[in-house]
Amino acid sequence: MPDSKEFKTSFKLYLRLLEYLRPYRPRVTLALVCMILSALSTSYVMAQLKYIIDGAFLKTDDPTGTFHHLILWTLPLTFAAAVLKALSGYGQEYLNRYLGQRVVQTLRNNIYDHFLKLPMSFFNTQRTGILAARITNDVQVLQDSLVNIVGQGTYSLLMVVSLVAVLVYRDWQLALLTLVVFPLGLYPIFRYGRRIRHTSGEGQRLLADLNAQVHETLAGIRVVKAFGMENHERHKFKKTNDEFFYQAMKMNQAFASSSPIVESIATIVLLVLIGWMGYRSLFLSNLTVGDFISFLATTLTLYPFLKNFNGLWAGLQHALAAAERCFHILDIEDPMVDVKGAIEVGPLKKSLQFKNVQFEYVHGHPILKNISFEIKKGEVVALVGPSGGGKSTLADLVPRFYQPQSGQVLWDGEDLSHVKLASLRSHVGIVTQETILFHDTIASNIAYGRPGASFADIQAAAKAAYADEFIKNTPQGYNTLIGERGVKLSGGQRQRIAIARAILKNPPVMILDEATSALDTQSEQWVQKALEQLMGHRTTLVIAHRLSTIRKADRILVIDKGRIVEQGKHSALLAKKGLYAKLHKMQFKTHREPVEE
Ligand code: ADP
Repeated sequence: MPDSKEFKTSFKLYLRLLEYLRPYRPRVTLALVCMILSALSTSYVMAQLKYIIDGAFLKTDDPTGTFHHLILWTLPLTFAAAVLKALSGYGQEYLNRYLGQRVVQTLRNNIYDHFLKLPMSFFNTQRTGILAARITNDVQVLQDSLVNIVGQGTYSLLMVVSLVAVLVYRDWQLALLTLVVFPLGLYPIFRYGRRIRHTSGEGQRLLADLNAQVHETLAGIRVVKAFGMENHERHKFKKTNDEFFYQAMKMNQAFASSSPIVESIATIVLLVLIGWMGYRSLFLSNLTVGDFISFLATTLTLYPFLKNFNGLWAGLQHALAAAERCFHILDIEDPMVDVKGAIEVGPLKKSLQFKNVQFEYVHGHPILKNISFEIKKGEVVALVGPSGGGKSTLADLVPRFYQPQSGQVLWDGEDLSHVKLASLRSHVGIVTQETILFHDTIASNIAYGRPGASFADIQAAAKAAYADEFIKNTPQGYNTLIGERGVKLSGGQRQRIAIARAILKNPPVMILDEATSALDTQSEQWVQKALEQLMGHRTTLVIAHRLSTIRKADRILVIDKGRIVEQGKHSALLAKKGLYAKLHKMQFKTHREPVEE
């Protein structure tokens, strides 16, 4: 028997799943009505069997009367009950599936919504492939099992109750004997249920692992091939796949062995039944053939429903394991929700200010230490410094992807932690190093930050980003589909589309992470021009890698090990002969642009 704690957890999970049925109460009721009707009509047909058989075969004193009764009453009534059973059976099956689909549909939406709401810090620690598996695999498992559990479980229960009633009505002693043997079957049922839940959880985890691996390998196929790592990846995949096989076989073994056990018990029941019937008919003679057939047919009809309980418990455990993983995601609270009374901010009017900002990803490992600076409206501030110094982290605090542990980031004097996220982000544009383009048309990719933008606006943005020309040369112009991650476009072209996207959104504040990867000279020039358009008179915080950007910046902050170590204009910083001058010598000299200081 499952222990009480396990029972409690299962029950709680089950109740939580049932919550999802709440909006469909009328349909749930209708499904129940169908089930009850189906159970009653089935039992009625079973009970009628006695009268049909006895009416047809038992010798009586009034054969004509008996025959008339059979033809006029017994058979039509049985037929009507059979029709009712068919209709209600259809109804319950259909509604069952409908409700199962609805529950997982809601769950899928909820998980997806939750993913979108979760803070960046969550995604740092998870593999996206595994997260995607929550919505695909786990929810699918739930869907398959839910139809079986919520529906078939209840249905089987009703059937068992009403069929047992027929058995008791026919011969209570015999019914008792039949039913005493069945509980013997319950022990293995629970035992296997627990085992299946355990192995199923492990199996789903491995499947998610496989998923993630395929995802990552395919996304990085270029690197895999370039480094000749095909064999390495193959072995890695094969290993996980092998583990999955053995895990799946463990579960299959449990599934496979549970049925024979239940079947053996059923055989015992059947033999006991026939023995007892024979004894009573031979020695006591108070039993008709109709009684025997009716009892036997009822027992046989009952058997699959009892057997269903076996699959049900296993299925329930399987589903609950999946539900647990789904709920686990839904239960992650979002620390980035707007605080009570959070205010809407407007476009930046005066300045964006960092005040003694301290930030750490991992407790005890500060990444930003006591950062204070101000960007006035319209200023361009460049962040430079050794890699790993904290520049990207600092930039991520502006759209509040993360929350500083102490200190403040102020938007026109308003602490970002008291600002409505949506309003803040509507005023901030971001162009990252890695240009993320979606599998959609070029036009939709540009319009990403401003859905519903007119074509004229989209084209104007593309023109400003020096992208119009090459877009027009693609097969379907603005309607050309971009392959996954934009493989059909060159690096420079993708960057310009991303810049056009930002220009179209037209945010007052721009966060820019210049790409480090070298483009060919011509692409570089186009991208450079596009970036200049984008910055325009916008307030810009740029993680700079290009000398031209740095030269144009109103101020340069040199970030090293989480601190601002130097700041000022390009020439003044060079004259200081400090870290900036050193970096400049190492980093920017190699750049294509001539260094003329
Ligand atoms: P930069 O942009 O100057 O190269 P980053 O801001 O990317 O520097 O990184 C600063 C430090 O923070 C690095 O030591 C890096 O390992 C760490 N870091 C960056 N992102 C994360 C993260 N998501 N979780 C934990 N540590 C991180």
